[in-house]
Amino acid sequence: MDDAPLFEPKAFGLSAEQSELAVVARTLGREKFAPRAEALDREARFPTENYRDMHEAGLLGLCVPAQHGGRGADYKTYALTAAEIGRYCGATALTWNMHVCSCLWSGPLSDDLKMTDAQRANHERRRALHYGRIVNEGAVYAQPFSEGGAAAAGMAPFSTRATRVDDGWIINGKKIFASLAGNADYYGILCTQEGKDPSVRDTMYIAVPANADGVSVVGDWDPLGMRATVSRTLLLENVRVDEDAQLMPRGIYYQAATRWPHMFLTLSPTYMGQAQAAYDFTIRYLRGEMPGTPPVKRRMYPTKQIAVAQMRIMLEQTKALWFQAISEACPDPSKDQMLRAYAAQYTVMENANEIAQLAIRTCGGQAMLKSLALERIYRDSRCGSLMLPWTAELCLDRLGRQALYERGETDD
Ligand SMILES: Cc1cc2nc3c(=O)[nH]c(=O)nc-3n(C[C@H](O)[C@H](O)[C@H](O)COP(=O)(O)OP(=O)(O)OC[C@H]3O[C@@H](n4cnc5c(N)ncnc54)[C@H](O)[C@@H]3O)c2cc1C
Repeated sequence: MDDAPLFEPKAFGLSAEQSELAVVARTLGREKFAPRAEALDREARFPTENYRDMHEAGLLGLCVPAQHGGRGADYKTYALTAAEIGRYCGATALTWNMHVCSCLWSGPLSDDLKMTDAQRANHERRRALHYGRIVNEGAVYAQPFSEGGAAAAGMAPFSTRATRVDDGWIINGKKIFASLAGNADYYGILCTQEGKDPSVRDTMYIAVPANADGVSVVGDWDPLGMRATVSRTLLLENVRVDEDAQLMPRGIYYQAATRWPHMFLTLSPTYMGQAQAAYDFTIRYLRGEMPGTPPVKRRMYPTKQIAVAQMRIMLEQTKALWFQAISEACPDPSKDQMLRAYAAQYTVMENANEIAQLAIRTCGGQAMLKSLALERIYRDSRCGSLMLPWTAELCLDRLGRQALYERGETDD
């Protein structure tokens, strides 16, 4: 049985490019990524082969602007493509998100932000270097910003520091949960410019070559889910990088985080794909059409039909809200658009796992063996709500507070 598109092009009004890329992602996912996913998960091994395939298919340069040799895809097109990949290998979709964001943030998002002419000219020159490596050499970028403190939630400056030296920067710090650690060619490091009273406004975004002196990957990686992301700890000890390593001019990351906040919704496509995968699995399994299992039909039991109905309702609700949120991502969103983005993130992250757990209950014991994808989807989908800065808890916090208070309002 062929997988139907996650978002049917006509029904959702997709562009020709969005429909075409969804087919590319679905074909790669079904034919290449899905058969490899079980072993990668068991061994907690990075999907290097998948990245080679994505480079060949032009997906590493998906959001690299066309004038720099990429596909020039926008935010929504990326989200739709990533969701299709998430159906087949969550870890590939999630790590690809880290890579794509280095292009999306420095590309189309930066084009919407205010810069001086000098900043714009420097940025144009620097991003050309960075895009050239991706398009021509298949370079892969990671995006480690988590440090275990309040910085990843946007509540404090990053502890990782960049100190000015002639023609460049010296970076010192530690990043935890650095997906692609040991497998990326560059680490897009978020750090704070060293100085008196450092602030989140001093955040810098710098590409550190993986082979630079002072870069090391430590610790093990043996988590519940998303095991093939290989999110080990990254240490940066007196790492020297040149001026052109900046992925955004100083101060622009802060502007992006405040003016283009949907940049943090990009972790959700992976889990949108997982929600669909858990539902698809259930339909196939109950119809007795799951490859690798006996052709036993279980669809005739009314309790199972009700569970499937509940799953379908939850899936439709999730897709509708998520599609709306990715469609309205823009600079300076309205309050309603922001509340909807938090609601979409929360809904996708929680419902993906909720649908997966209903799938396990409904399909039964033989469906949760490790040889089948559902068990992995169940574990992988549990990880979505933990992703900072928009964890499920923080989305709830912000939704409640911002719905009840206008900016600057207090009860005094
Ligand atoms: C599979 C996987 C891959 C990942 N890949 C990356 C990556 O590539 N790059 C990267 O930078 N990070 C990555 N992360 C890390 C992720 O974004 C979080 O930083 C990490 O899960 C935080 O864990 P913690 O226990 O340190 O959170 P803590 O900071 O201890 O927070 C625990 C919980 O408390 C809540 N919380 C935190 N701060 C606040 C606050 N100020 N107010 C109210 N509630 C708060 C949140 O809900 C949070 O989930 C990954 C995580 C996972 C699970």
